[in-house]
Order: sequence, then C-alpha cells, then structure tokens
Amino acid sequence: LPPSRRIGYAVVGLGHLALEEILPALSNCKKSKLTALVSGSPEKLKKVAAQYGIAPENCYSYQTYDQIKNNKEVDVIYIVLPNGLHKEYVIRGAQAGKHILCEKPMANTAAECRDMLSACSKAGVKLMVAYRIHYQPHNRKLREMIQKKEFGVAKFVEAHNSQSTANVNHWRHKKALAGGGALPDIGLYCLNTTRFVLGEEPVEVFAYQYSTPGNPLFKEIEELVSWQMRFPSGVIANCATDYDVHESRRYRVNCKTGWMNIDQAYAYKGQKLTTSKADGLMKRTEEIGLAENNQFAAEMDHFSDCILNNKKPFTPGEEGLQDHIIMEAIYQSAREGKPVKI
Ligand code: NDP
Repeated sequence: LPPSRRIGYAVVGLGHLALEEILPALSNCKKSKLTALVSGSPEKLKKVAAQYGIAPENCYSYQTYDQIKNNKEVDVIYIVLPNGLHKEYVIRGAQAGKHILCEKPMANTAAECRDMLSACSKAGVKLMVAYRIHYQPHNRKLREMIQKKEFGVAKFVEAHNSQSTANVNHWRHKKALAGGGALPDIGLYCLNTTRFVLGEEPVEVFAYQYSTPGNPLFKEIEELVSWQMRFPSGVIANCATDYDVHESRRYRVNCKTGWMNIDQAYAYKGQKLTTSKADGLMKRTEEIGLAENNQFAAEMDHFSDCILNNKKPFTPGEEGLQDHIIMEAIYQSAREGKPVKI
C-alpha cells in the first residue's frame, strides 16, 4: 500500500522491544506505519521522534495519552509496557476509539483479560495479542505438517524456553509489574505455540514449580515451572521454563512415523526446522530450509490487514485470555500438587 493508505500506529512505551524491534520493523511494513509515540521520558521521546520523523504534536506522555482520541493519524495503539500496565493502557486506548495491539502476556491475570476484552468490545475496536510465533514461517510450516499428518498422528510434545536474567531491579522481577516469573514471560511461548501447532486446547494440566532458595531474583516471582498438558486427542505436552539457566528455546513434536523439531523456535530469528522419519530400516533426518521473515512486521501487517478488511485477527484477545486461564491452572496445580482440569 502507498504510505497514505497504510494503518497508523502509536507505540506506547519506548523500552527494549519497542526501540530495538518494533520501531525498525514498522519501517519494513507494507500496510502499517508509525504515526505517534508515547513515553514517560521527554528526552527519549524527543530523540526517538527526531529519528523516525514523528512531529511533536504526535508525541504523548502517559498523562496526555487519552488525547490520542483526537488524532486521526492513529488507527492502532500498540501497548509495549510492562505486563502489569497492559490492562490500564488497553482500556484507556479502547476508550479513545483506537484498535489495540497488546504485547504478550496479555495481562497479569485472566480477570484482567476479561475486563480488557469487554472494554474493546464495548468500544467497537479490535484487540490483538502480539503472538509473533503465529506469523513465523518455520512454526507455521510445522503446524501445517501436523494438520496434514505428514508423520501420522502427533503423540507427545517436548518444549523448553529458558534464559538467564541478572537484574534484580528490573520490572520482570516485581510481581505487580510482571504478574509472575518465567512462566508468563517466556514459558508462555511453549504453552501458546503448542496450542497453536496442535490446533486443540488442553483439558488438564499438572505442574511443578521451583525457585532457588535465597536468590534475590526470585523473591517475588518464580524461577522454574515444569508442566504437562493433556489434550483431547490424547497428545501429552511436556513443557519447562527457567529464568536462571543457559538459553534454550526449542520444541519437538513426536508423531507416529516421524518427528519435527525447531531449534531457536521462539527467537527473533535463526529458527532451524528438522524432521526425522523412518526410511526402510534407516532413519532419515532432514533440515527444511525456509526464508526468514521479520515476525514483528508480519504481525503488524496482519493486524492492519484485519482493520482494512474488517476481519478478526488470528491472535485476538480471546487467545490471550485462554493462555492466562491455563497459566492460572498451572500455578494452582504446582501449589496443590495435583492435576487441575481446565
Ligand atoms: P522494557 O523494560 O525494556 O521497556 C518497558 C518500557 O515501558 C520502559 O522503557 C518505559 O518506557 C515503559 N514504562 C512505563 N512505566 C514503566 C514502569 N513502571 N517500569 C518500567 N517501564 C515502564 O521492557 P520490554 O520492552 O522488554 O517489554 C515490554 C513488553 O513487551 C512486555 O509486556 C514484554 O513481555 C513484551 N515483550 C515481548 C517480546 C516479544 O517477543 N513479543 C519480547 C520482549 C518483550 P518509557 O521510558 O518510554 O516510558
């Protein structure tokens, strides 16, 4: 689309993700463009606005945020704030009459997600959660292979998403701003991607939780969560996430006559899709090469397309709510030491 017809985005919160990924990705979009910025830091706002050619009247603070209502250049508000602030800014954004793209996790709790969904529906605006993996070629290809039963029925899934963090003072280690620890931040990828590729919803979960005693990083939030999900088709998924181990971002779907594995599955780039299947008495492994895309540009253009053609996004607010319902069951299972039905 020519720039004049592209959907205009206001990006709220100029932190790491916004500055390093989202703003550069908007320059690569075909249906979306950056039209406004919202930040609590006037100096940063001025600098970033100059860099991206955003006029001073399209720059807002958290206090003047609601005035976006009067800005015709803004169609979408993209919330890139700490998790605990998503609910407030999504609801205020919806009340300003703008469509909302919200970073993952959607909120801190399922109850907050319900409030956000009802505010958006009342305002008549679309709500999408930024689940970029749904717009990533290797993960989509794996999903298609499951749907086509290329290796027969899926039986079990193994998924990890782990990394190490060190900054005790970061909002990710504060319960009120983060909602939880490794689970909602990075474990969420195992949960959401497994649901996405299997195309079904878990009916029961069982979980363990652990935090290294005395580690100040885990005073308010958890370190490790390991959980199983049982699906109606009989598939069992084994998932784990940890905030204090060497990075590992992979999953494997084991099917009757083969498996599919993605290394760097949840990363911004570098995905490697490998399959293995029986070939006579031998086993043949193969790497399926696919062109990479910019996941952030792909997800924003998807949302813009939904707005231009009045369609429901592929990852609507209900998708975020469902993940929070399952995460609450996971925490409950870990607390009670028994399986929890969804
Ligand atoms: P950062 O801490 O780097 O940035 C958050 C920004 O929010 C800050 O820079 C600040 O911007 C603003 N902010 C407003 N109030 C506060 C507050 N009380 N404390 C801290 N920051 C505040 O976080 P990230 O960019 O890493 O994460 C932002 C969101 O994006 C989270 O929901 C996270 O889960 C999600 N995320 C998603 C990823 C993905 O791959 N989809 C990857 C990384 C994060 P300012 O100074 O402009 O006001």
